[in-house]
Amino acid sequence: MIQVGEAREFVLETLHALAPVERALADALGCVASESVVATEPVPGFSNSSMDGYALRAQDTSTGSVRLRVTGTVLAGQVASRSVHSGEAMRIMTGAAIPDGADAVCMIEETSVDLDGGTVQIQPVIIPGQFVRHPGDDVAVGQLLIESGSELSGSQIGVLASQGLASLMVHPRPRVGVLSTGDELAGPGDKLAYGQIRDVNRPMLLALLRQSGFTPIDLGIARDREDEITQRLQRGVDECDAVVATGGVSVGDVDFVKTMLAQVCSSRARWMQVAMRPGKPFAFGTADPCGAPIFGLPGNPVSTRVSFEMFVRPALRRLAGHQLLDRPLVNMVLDCDMTRQRDGKLHLVHVDFRASDDGRHHVVRASRQGSHLLSAVADANGIAMIPDGEGLHTGDLARVMILNSELSH
Ligand code: AMP
Ligand code: MG
Repeated sequence: MIQVGEAREFVLETLHALAPVERALADALGCVASESVVATEPVPGFSNSSMDGYALRAQDTSTGSVRLRVTGTVLAGQVASRSVHSGEAMRIMTGAAIPDGADAVCMIEETSVDLDGGTVQIQPVIIPGQFVRHPGDDVAVGQLLIESGSELSGSQIGVLASQGLASLMVHPRPRVGVLSTGDELAGPGDKLAYGQIRDVNRPMLLALLRQSGFTPIDLGIARDREDEITQRLQRGVDECDAVVATGGVSVGDVDFVKTMLAQVCSSRARWMQVAMRPGKPFAFGTADPCGAPIFGLPGNPVSTRVSFEMFVRPALRRLAGHQLLDRPLVNMVLDCDMTRQRDGKLHLVHVDFRASDDGRHHVVRASRQGSHLLSAVADANGIAMIPDGEGLHTGDLARVMILNSELSH
């Protein structure tokens, strides 16, 4: 058996971010920028009003409660046809350019217009610059907007749009092929012969990949035949940036994935017994000659799920250009015992946690565990890492990988 850290090292050490491509802003959410972006346009580009009101000269209001002559209206997108002189005001809408001569805005709520609209009563004393947004207030020319290597959020895409950018250079989302293997597997709608089961892993992995921001590609089901498995793996690495296969990596008579994976990845492949439970058997290689990683995960769905989190997702995040590969690991207080037997392995236990009034996260429940018991762990929001030994007790701290912080029961 090898330690989890060593297996992860073998997976990660040769992987690099995929070559940058140009992406439209609309398609770039969650992608990692491969270039830094520096502002070339000030935002805003001109002085404008932050209120609906009256543009005026502040000094005209120094006594408060003054009446000014209204000389026109300026709407957003328009330029005032004349300047504002002493004793005058111009009606102005939010976002409209401040007319020449004016240096402040009085909000409409603090004014009253006379009946024919020719004059306006300004109640307060207005200070120069009031409700005026200045050029470059938000973004100054030369300001660093996006640093190369950062993941693009919706707000950052907004900032790039404020520069008039339509696209930028990013690392593409890895295209990831998903292959199930096993003679016993049946698809949706197939009638199950006795001894057959539904293919669970492929739909689950396709969904998990999409949830993590990758592009899933369905490679179907391969029977437990060497030629069929080789063919599908080869097709996978020809068409995708990475391939995830499940089943066939254990010590059974027809567990061919580990050997076929080693063939497709002849220069660098390893079949491992990893010191973790579930998910002990694991095969990994990089395909010749393209270097695309192929993951061989154990067939039991909970093992597949856990191996995905421990090996596949971090590796694919590296391909996607992320610097932070892992989900957050947080020490949480156990509200239940989590005892175990010493067996040399790290135990990965699906749990429910929630944030508590004491400002800490508490693990409130450990799921029923078993590598084939997927429904028992399906709505867990974390995976607790229980190190080798006798386990932990109520009140102890446990390290928990946060799968989904929004899911708390
Ligand atoms: P294997 O690793 O191929 O020996 O499979 C281990 C266990 O996982 C067996 O009980 C298989 O029937 C089951 N299994 C394998 N692949 C899948 C799959 N795609 N969906 C659900 N169960 C599977
Ligand atoms: Mg099998």
